[in-house]
Amino acid sequence: MSETSSTPCNLCGSNHVAVLSMRSRSGAELRTVICQHCGLVWSDPFPHDPRHFYEEDYRLAYKNTYAPKAKHILRAGRVALDRHKKIKHLLEKPQTMLDVGTGGGEFAYLIKSLGHDLQGIEPNKGYGEYSAAAYGLNLQIGFIQDADLAENSFDLITIWHVLEHTEDPFFVLNKLRSLLKADGILVVEVPNIEATCQSPISTFHEAHLYNFNLATLKKMGEKAGLLLDNQLFSEDGGNMTLFFKKSPQADQASDWAIADNAAHITSIVQGHTNLKHYLGAAPYLRFIKRMSRSLFEKQAIKGFADNKSLLDHLYRGL
Ligand SMILES: [Zn+2]
Repeated sequence: MSETSSTPCNLCGSNHVAVLSMRSRSGAELRTVICQHCGLVWSDPFPHDPRHFYEEDYRLAYKNTYAPKAKHILRAGRVALDRHKKIKHLLEKPQTMLDVGTGGGEFAYLIKSLGHDLQGIEPNKGYGEYSAAAYGLNLQIGFIQDADLAENSFDLITIWHVLEHTEDPFFVLNKLRSLLKADGILVVEVPNIEATCQSPISTFHEAHLYNFNLATLKKMGEKAGLLLDNQLFSEDGGNMTLFFKKSPQADQASDWAIADNAAHITSIVQGHTNLKHYLGAAPYLRFIKRMSRSLFEKQAIKGFADNKSLLDHLYRGL
């Protein structure tokens, strides 16, 4: 049913939406809408003040100094290895890099270990202070939206699973374009709204303010002066990684509609039912993967003096 959103679409500016869902993963009320002109999906209204959400995290981090467990470092280190694999072809020469949303710093540390000059930015003070101290990272604590960084100064910018959490992804893409050198590359990874590997009730949750498919993220890049060069999808289809080049200028088109994209996404989301999901193999494969992961982890984390030594061991031979 056609409705109106409280804020205009971040991609095409339309207020003409349909409701995709009224529930979040947690079971709480969360109104998720889809723009009828371009197919961008977002939480309307936002379930929280996006900045305040992370400020709460700040306060928690203040009280209990962030000290990740070896098990979590191992998982994050393996994710970092996977990310490195995706961008390895861009790292043949030493790169000046920016990593947005550095988190616990495992990926940034891997890149630094390979001899690249990496600047990190992370809004969570606990993560930021921990990773700067533990791995000697060059880190700004704050939001990319406010970051004071020189324009045209990075060969490569990575932003893994951050864009969907920001209140204005178009603004963020614009800012990242301005920070790239003329021949720089921006790597953006986000969850894919077309994925059906998660159970249907897990599709929407409070932390993700925006949901993209390839068409909407590509178009938003174009609007910000970024041209899609390549894309990768994870094996389960859950994540997509887009490689953008800097275009000399932002696209001047005035209409950002994407024909049929809203209907395409709506049919996928609405066709992904509990019955279909549990009749398929995905949930069982996921369960087996988790069990074997837990057994592997118990063995793998034994005998390391600290988290840095664990990562050094994991990253050896790169
Ligand atoms: Zn739109």
